[in-house]
Amino acid sequence: MDILSITGLRARYGHVEALHSVDLRLGEGELVTVLGPNGAGKSTLMRAIMGVCSNSGQVQFRGKDTPRNNPVALATDGLILVPEGRGVLGPMTVEENLEIGGYLLGDRNAEFERRLAEVLEMFPRLRERLSQDAGSLSGGEQQMLAVGRALMAGPKLLLLDEPSLGLAPRVIGEILETLRELNARGLSILLVEQKAPLALKIANRAYFLSLGKIVSEFDPKEVSSHEELSKHYLS
Ligand code: ATP
Repeated sequence: MDILSITGLRARYGHVEALHSVDLRLGEGELVTVLGPNGAGKSTLMRAIMGVCSNSGQVQFRGKDTPRNNPVALATDGLILVPEGRGVLGPMTVEENLEIGGYLLGDRNAEFERRLAEVLEMFPRLRERLSQDAGSLSGGEQQMLAVGRALMAGPKLLLLDEPSLGLAPRVIGEILETLRELNARGLSILLVEQKAPLALKIANRAYFLSLGKIVSEFDPKEVSSHEELSKHYLS
């Protein structure tokens, strides 16, 4: 069964429609990427999936229609967004940020400690900086914290909005490698990216979004050259 199924999704800002009838699916255990240039509607798509912008159409998560304006209910069901710009809480420590990620568990119970150990094993740099303010971390470390905080919520599907933004190529490589590893462990992932060649290295399937529309869907393995990629971009 598809973990995420989107049909005829439209989103608008005032009178301007930013997403025009988007159809998209993500099977259980898949890592799917949505590529597209600046302003294509990638962040709007993420917000529309989370039900936090004006939209119409159908978004089903694990076979059920998703609620509007209720990201907490979605998080409880296992759908978590790592927003563009990371959204870490700068004046709070790394550990406090991770605690916020796990707040649905209530206390720091055994499950909390298990998740924390897993996140710190995945991102050893966070372990070294647990008592440091999140705002003093490098961009790459903040992105790791944003992913770590999302993992603390125990997601079944992780949405990531341009995790590579503003990061050096080596750091982007590290983060994408972590996403590949998480996917190999069974986590379903929807990755929105502008950096197509990098995202295509780890994705099982790709969509291309342009001017608020899905203009192509393809298998990353079929795209071995820049020319072929541009064909998809332009088709
Ligand atoms: P980027 O890669 O630059 O983040 P994107 O693909 O995520 O771009 P969106 O941010 O979803 O694109 O924007 C899609 C369209 O919607 C753009 O034309 C943008 O100007 C418009 N838009 C986005 N947010 C708002 C808003 N809050 N109010 C009005 N228009 C908006």
